[in-house]
Amino acid sequence: MAMTTSTSFFSPPFRSFSVPRHRRNVVVVAASAIPLRSAENIVIVGAGVAGLATALALRRLGVGAAVLEQGPTLRAGGTSLTLFKNGWRVLDAIGVADELRAKYLRIQGWAQDADAISGEWRAEIALLGIFGRQEVRAVERRVLLETLASKLPPETISFSSKLKSIAEQGPDGTLLELEDGRQVLAKIVVGCDGVNSPIARWMGFLEPRYVGHMAFRGLAEYADGQPFEPKVNYIYGRGVRAGFVPVSPTKVYWFICFNRQSPGPKITDPAALKREALDLVGGWPSDLLAVMGSTPESAVVRTPLVDRWLWPGLAPRASRGGGVVLAGDAWHPMTPNLGQGACCALEDAVVLARRLAAGNARDAMQGYEAERWARVFPLTARAGLVGALVQWENAAVCAVRDAVVIPRLVRLGPFLEHTNFECDLLGASP
Ligand SMILES: Cc1cc2nc3c(=O)[nH]c(=O)nc-3n(C[C@H](O)[C@H](O)[C@H](O)COP(=O)(O)OP(=O)(O)OC[C@H]3O[C@@H](n4cnc5c(N)ncnc54)[C@H](O)[C@@H]3O)c2cc1C
Repeated sequence: MAMTTSTSFFSPPFRSFSVPRHRRNVVVVAASAIPLRSAENIVIVGAGVAGLATALALRRLGVGAAVLEQGPTLRAGGTSLTLFKNGWRVLDAIGVADELRAKYLRIQGWAQDADAISGEWRAEIALLGIFGRQEVRAVERRVLLETLASKLPPETISFSSKLKSIAEQGPDGTLLELEDGRQVLAKIVVGCDGVNSPIARWMGFLEPRYVGHMAFRGLAEYADGQPFEPKVNYIYGRGVRAGFVPVSPTKVYWFICFNRQSPGPKITDPAALKREALDLVGGWPSDLLAVMGSTPESAVVRTPLVDRWLWPGLAPRASRGGGVVLAGDAWHPMTPNLGQGACCALEDAVVLARRLAAGNARDAMQGYEAERWARVFPLTARAGLVGALVQWENAAVCAVRDAVVIPRLVRLGPFLEHTNFECDLLGASP
């Protein structure tokens, strides 16, 4: 990746981009005459799941890319992400799955404990049949990002590089201006800048919609080993649900989703955050409370849940002018009710990388959008509808939900059909 402090490093087709005299110290992603298959031609904004996976997929196809990340380091916070078999197929394809498999437990089953309020434990559903064909593991987000980044050349990611504005420069490409005044001219920009993507905003997307519930997440630590079987444990209440999943021999992930009319002010005091989470599930099964109790305050986060449905004919295109394209949450934020946001960001990465590596950027972006829209629009809608179902508050409706609807849904083969996704291995890194 050629990043340079020189201002005279451009060669066609970017020669017409001139750096103003007062910005002679700008860092510039130099574009060479080599068209698409050039490390200098592709800039990925955002070093999250989508951005790093796209950079790695491209690299395995022999295409270099620069990654701009607003943070001073990879995101250290965050708890864990449950990845289903579609996510693992992609991690296999880009050559990092086995390294992660060695660290994280394979989930064997699913226990559903209904009616948390009365304390009755009504249903335990073994899903070994489905999980036998599935691969489900919860991975720490930090470790996932570090693993992806470790396979990229060290100079690939530019930290403390927050995108401030973006502007088309005709045939020269797209000009990215960073918060600190640096400028980057890129032939291709891949917007992987997450749920509040400034690039999506620039492309005309509406802000994501708050869906009426929020999530607490935490990562419990057991230095001497955690005591749980490797299964997903769900507990449904009225307008509140919770769950926990063993992640590794020493860590257990938990979450609580709860209804709330508006997200309210951000809570920055970690102790207050954990207290609020515990208050929501006072009197709930002791295993859940024990897991929460074993969680350092600093490992508890609260997030408003949002999505954005890509209605045909109404949503803007995922790409603009053959020069800018979106991937991951920047394009299709979805609620986590199916555990598919990061899995889909990984899928986007391999599909987009393959198409970009194959040739013409405009065709690649349009083909990517068509292929991925058919996948992510229904999934976003389904995740939203599942969220509405499981967040019901009415007691009678909840009783039917817990006794009939959820067990049936869970037993049906198609329950996890949305995790079907195949992709071939991408060539090994040079
Ligand atoms: C409560 C909750 C639970 C979830 N659980 C799961 C789960 O179990 N399984 C699953 O598959 N998914 C899950 N998800 C979804 C998953 O977290 C996201 O879909 C995934 O992180 C999307 O990856 P991304 O790369 O698109 O965005 P992100 O991971 O958010 O990365 C975006 C990156 O862009 C950077 N950035 C943003 N703005 C700028 C800028 N202006 N300039 C430069 N850089 C910028 C950010 O710093 C960040 O590093 C969950 C989400 C939530 C909220």
